[in-house]
Amino acid sequence: MSDSTFLPFTRPDIDAQTIAEVGKVLASGWITSGPKVQAFEAQLSALFGGRPVRAFSNGTATMEVALRLAGVGPGDEVITTAITWVATANVIVAVGAKPVFVDVDPHTRNIDLAAVEAAITPRTRAIMPVYMAGLPVDMDLLYAIAKKHALRVIEDAAQAIDSRWNGQRIGSFGDLVSFSFQANKNITCAEGGCLVLNSLGEAEQAQRLRLQGVVRSGLDGMDVEAPGGKFNLTDINAAIGLGQLAHLPEVTRRRAQLAQDYFDAAAAAKLEALGIELPPPINSSGAMTNWHMFQVVLPADRLRGGRAAIMQALQDAGIGTGVHYPALHLFSYYRSLGWREGMLPHAERIGRSILTLPLFPSMRSSDPHRVCQALAQSCKRLLK
Ligand SMILES: *Cc1c(COP(=O)(O)O)cnc(C)c1O
Repeated sequence: MSDSTFLPFTRPDIDAQTIAEVGKVLASGWITSGPKVQAFEAQLSALFGGRPVRAFSNGTATMEVALRLAGVGPGDEVITTAITWVATANVIVAVGAKPVFVDVDPHTRNIDLAAVEAAITPRTRAIMPVYMAGLPVDMDLLYAIAKKHALRVIEDAAQAIDSRWNGQRIGSFGDLVSFSFQANKNITCAEGGCLVLNSLGEAEQAQRLRLQGVVRSGLDGMDVEAPGGKFNLTDINAAIGLGQLAHLPEVTRRRAQLAQDYFDAAAAAKLEALGIELPPPINSSGAMTNWHMFQVVLPADRLRGGRAAIMQALQDAGIGTGVHYPALHLFSYYRSLGWREGMLPHAERIGRSILTLPLFPSMRSSDPHRVCQALAQSCKRLLK
């Protein structure tokens, strides 16, 4: 290893001022949901063009509440993608509904909207698209399909803060839009999430479902009309989020620059000639990603040892990688619901071949070159 420092696939950057703010919250005597959460929600609402926003303990809770708000429950079907973090499907199961997986577009790795339309049945209640690595789907087409079939849309925008569609920020339009602030996301609270809603009425409902369904009145009144969960964000986490949000524009700019560096480095290392597929190029359509991840699809079926051998070789070269994600219809639980190999061929190939390369704002501008060179070298050595 020529470099003594290990390059992880991602790393959060928390500045000193944010750390000091967290200390102030801890010393304040009010450490759970309070003024910091309200300030965080207000800043997020401003970011999303004034739409109501409520914060949650994590992005999974956010999506579960969104499904409940949309009235999704037993007997309903929700159409989603097989290439996502398993939370997307698990929350559909959690509310008693049935996840219906459709295949992905092999180029964008996002849900194939033509397949969505083909999967709609009389039981379909909602569509849950995921913006993989921050890349939105064709939002005009998504909402045209939803409107035509009177379906709710719960956008799993966990990875898509500051991504745009035709210049409009994801979250600033649409139906229910869920974000995550988990440690790996572009903006983090350590753990956290937020939901962008359509009305103050919906926001109030979300607020109840966030904390046991409790409705307070007067000084001592309390009632529960519908039981909720324990999904509130703490002021400790909100203080981290506030400190992060201040850096959002520069984070997005830096990530876009590093993505461009990757494309240049990939061309220099001739990755595509080795059968390695790159993400869609910058500004190739109305969809603008926030470069939450830079992911390649390996020629895994032609590699001795498959993807794991490449991961090991990069690890040995001091480079961390990640797998986001295996096709989730092939997990044991989802197989028990009847899903099988061969049902979603693009998702299955991508699920066993996709690899996340290091991308985070504080990495060095020379890192993409080093990563692409090491990737090309190991690929050449392992190709059958
Ligand atoms: C991170 C993530 C989630 C879940 O968010 P948590 O905050 O970890 O609960 C859901 N979907 C996708 C696509 C994610 O990347």
